[in-house]
Amino acid sequence: MEPDHPREECGVFAIASVANVSIDIFYALRVLQHRGQESAGIAIYNNGIKAIKGMGLAHQALKTDDVNNLKGQLGIGHVRYSTMGSSNLENAQPIVVSTNYGDIALAHNGEIVNAEKIMDELKKKGWAFITSSDSEIAVRLLANDIANTGDPVRSLKNLMSMLHGSYSMTIMIDNRVFAMRDPLGFRPLCVGRTKSGFAAASESVVFDTLGGEFIRDVEPGEIVEMLPGEIRSIKTGLSKGKAHCMFEWVYIARADSCIDGKLVYEVRTRIGQRLAKEQPVDADVVVPIPDSGRSHAIGYSEESGIRYSEGLMKNRYVERTFIMPEQADRVTNVMLKLNPLKSVIKDKRVVLVDDSIVRGNTIRQIVQIVRNAGAKEVHVRVGSPPIRAPCFFGIDMKTREQFAATGRTIEEIGKMITADSLGYISVEGLVDAIGHPANDLCLGCLTEEYPMSVPGEKVRYQKKLDSFV
Ligand code: SF4
Repeated sequence: MEPDHPREECGVFAIASVANVSIDIFYALRVLQHRGQESAGIAIYNNGIKAIKGMGLAHQALKTDDVNNLKGQLGIGHVRYSTMGSSNLENAQPIVVSTNYGDIALAHNGEIVNAEKIMDELKKKGWAFITSSDSEIAVRLLANDIANTGDPVRSLKNLMSMLHGSYSMTIMIDNRVFAMRDPLGFRPLCVGRTKSGFAAASESVVFDTLGGEFIRDVEPGEIVEMLPGEIRSIKTGLSKGKAHCMFEWVYIARADSCIDGKLVYEVRTRIGQRLAKEQPVDADVVVPIPDSGRSHAIGYSEESGIRYSEGLMKNRYVERTFIMPEQADRVTNVMLKLNPLKSVIKDKRVVLVDDSIVRGNTIRQIVQIVRNAGAKEVHVRVGSPPIRAPCFFGIDMKTREQFAATGRTIEEIGKMITADSLGYISVEGLVDAIGHPANDLCLGCLTEEYPMSVPGEKVRYQKKLDSFV
């Protein structure tokens, strides 16, 4: 099964409080649900770590009685979409292991690039693994290191120097709660206050929902310890730069989250505005592809002066398109999911705005739906540059063959999706809209140059942005 959008990966949460935390964790996972729908889990400390996990959305995976029965003031939680390891309960997180030091629970968002290498080396030494997930490698390395150091903080720093890749993790080591972000800060992680304690979460929107307050982003290469009355920062000195994933702003994060100092909604509208400047078209109406193209479309409409209208109604009760396992199912699913408003579309020149195109299958069907509803012309505008290369850092885009942009010019992609015209934002335009310097972002899937070494791929070097265009 291949996605037609970049897939979300996981969401993590951690909390230390003076009150019982299981309900807070449950709600945090509901808020982070867009980051992973395959499984959910909660681990709580109460004289040892107890965990509940299940498959599906958080409210399906975690039974109300089980959540209520989980009592404790320290805990972590996880929602999962697998980028490594298969989708089954064994791979659901948090992963809990028992050691002489105490229990350890770990929840991971990201992807460890050197996981296979570490696993092979450890297997040769006689280590055994239960799951195929890179997160199990991390928890076993951590447990082994703590057996040697007896010092959780030192062992977390040691773990950070052993892992190569992207990881925002929440970790409980016996009765201490930590969160840590990889030295390049690929995936988001932030800390905030709740009504009764301190917490870390993948996205700031969690703190709004819990009636708390966002404090700040966790820095690349930083470890934070959550205590009921404070957050303690532990600097590792391992960060040598930044590589925030541009897709968090383009598609993955919720529009009401603030990621590394930039409100996602504002970035998306700026993307739409820039797109309108770079890819103008004479048209009558701007129609977003709901929900992910909405903020981009608002920006496009503002800049172009072309009226914005919701011309596609979404059925909220159909699962996301990529969940269906077979191509044939997806065809039906797009139609189930989106219905055109003929009064908005009929006899109009329509600009359809989406956040990104991965394979192009879904957008082609949507163009057809809009044409069948009587559109005179259908112009597609896209809020990210063409995706040309795989992601090794936690987004499930693994092979070049799957991409619409592989081996095709923009005109050829336009023909493939049957649009009257097709226009993407440039890399430079995207970087400007995000508002961080290009060298603080990962743009690997767009530029084919990655911020860290990956076997068989180019590492980015300081390069003028216009050479990407
Ligand atoms: S390769 Fe693309 S999707 Fe993956 S981390 Fe980099 S920017 Fe994000």
